[in-house]
Amino acid sequence: MNANETEIVVVGGGPAGLISAKTAAAKGRSVILFDSKDKIGFHEHCAGLLSIQGLKDLNLEKLPSGIIQNNSIKGAIIFSPSGKSITVEKEQPTAYVVNREKFNIHLYNLATEVGVNTETSSRVLKVERENKSLILKLGKKNAYRKVVSRIAILAEGRFPQINKQIGLPIPSRNSIVFSSMYMMKNLKDINPNFVEIYQDQRFAPGFFTWIIPTSDTTAKVGLASTNVPARNFLNLFIQKHPIARKKLENAVIEKRTNGAIPLGSFIRKTFTDNIMVVGDAAGQTKPTTGGGVIFGGVAAQFAGQIASDAIIQERYDARFLSQYSKLWKRKFSSNLTIMRLVRNYLNSLNEKEINRLLLILNNPKVKHKISEKGDVDNQKKIVMNLLTEMRLWPFIIKTGFKFLLNL
Ligand SMILES: Cc1cc2nc3c(=O)[nH]c(=O)nc-3n(C[C@H](O)[C@H](O)[C@H](O)COP(=O)(O)OP(=O)(O)OC[C@H]3O[C@@H](n4cnc5c(N)ncnc54)[C@H](O)[C@@H]3O)c2cc1C
Repeated sequence: MNANETEIVVVGGGPAGLISAKTAAAKGRSVILFDSKDKIGFHEHCAGLLSIQGLKDLNLEKLPSGIIQNNSIKGAIIFSPSGKSITVEKEQPTAYVVNREKFNIHLYNLATEVGVNTETSSRVLKVERENKSLILKLGKKNAYRKVVSRIAILAEGRFPQINKQIGLPIPSRNSIVFSSMYMMKNLKDINPNFVEIYQDQRFAPGFFTWIIPTSDTTAKVGLASTNVPARNFLNLFIQKHPIARKKLENAVIEKRTNGAIPLGSFIRKTFTDNIMVVGDAAGQTKPTTGGGVIFGGVAAQFAGQIASDAIIQERYDARFLSQYSKLWKRKFSSNLTIMRLVRNYLNSLNEKEINRLLLILNNPKVKHKISEKGDVDNQKKIVMNLLTEMRLWPFIIKTGFKFLLNL
């Protein structure tokens, strides 16, 4: 095949695109990956908090040195608006904090090793079907080019452009939160074993603020919010938050980043003839935390596998590719749906109610349950367990009624 013809094209070189490309190429398929940026890896606006179990599911638990910034995260300290906190903790580390740029480059190296051909500064502008193939129109440094392929995996990230062109939905724009994050040094009173979460609508309307330690004096400090500019909220948090400002008063900003996270939950249809959609472009992001690398990566593995099967069996039709949708939905769509409800419910609570909720969750028996059953990827498990906790019910009935009325 020449450079303008391939079996599989992947659009987007973030984690979802790179993982799907690597999976298909490892099965012997010819794969070209296009990314509009001039280099792979640029994605520092992500906090890079990844569960160790999730990385195992992606066969990525053994990361080369220099990528992991903190390998000792055992849990989280969650602060209520009144300043009360609850600590949930596992015995062993459960998550890594990674340098997202280096993590993406590692994925790129793995993909290249199995034969993926990557072209940067190449934006896919249009995808059209012709007979049983796809014609992709690309813009590369002011020149245009056409590439023919059998299958395309779309991994364009949070603002996908091609989904609509080919009649597929996009993640809801209404539920996008905007983020601002600083890499900071000289913090005090932070514990490298714990991520700090500040669930306080005054500083982060519609989401929360985080301090993710990379050592006992350095951290990624950020928030996401439905209101903009997110940076103003972050500055307010650093200067005025009664607890955090003491930790941050001598801290120095080393780098500033901005980003956006789709929290609207997944799009219903993620395939059509010749095409599958993965990652943020499919809304495979956790609405509670904004994490998208693990679920997007798991879905990307499924897409890469089905794309390879499709080539072998010469089946490029939607019916065959629907297997991809079945696989990822079976694996985690119910979790995403429950997380969406939890996010909406948390956003419906006022300051006093959040204070009260954290007080109830701080009960030793409830806290033990959260520490024992809590799983950052499989959050359905802990939600179902908490629903059997009778002491939560008066609160849920009172606040849940208000939540349902506002739906
Ligand atoms: C502030 C913030 C913090 C986050 N923290 C975490 C975290 O701690 N843990 C976690 O798991 N997730 C986190 N996320 C989410 C995570 O970053 C995303 O879920 C993840 O990067 C999505 O991967 P993706 O491959 O789907 O898309 P992206 O990483 O966005 O990659 C898409 C790529 O496609 C390219 N592209 C787009 N359109 C085209 C086109 N037409 N042609 C060619 N190339 C194109 C873009 O240049 C880009 O490189 C965070 C996000 C933000 C904003």
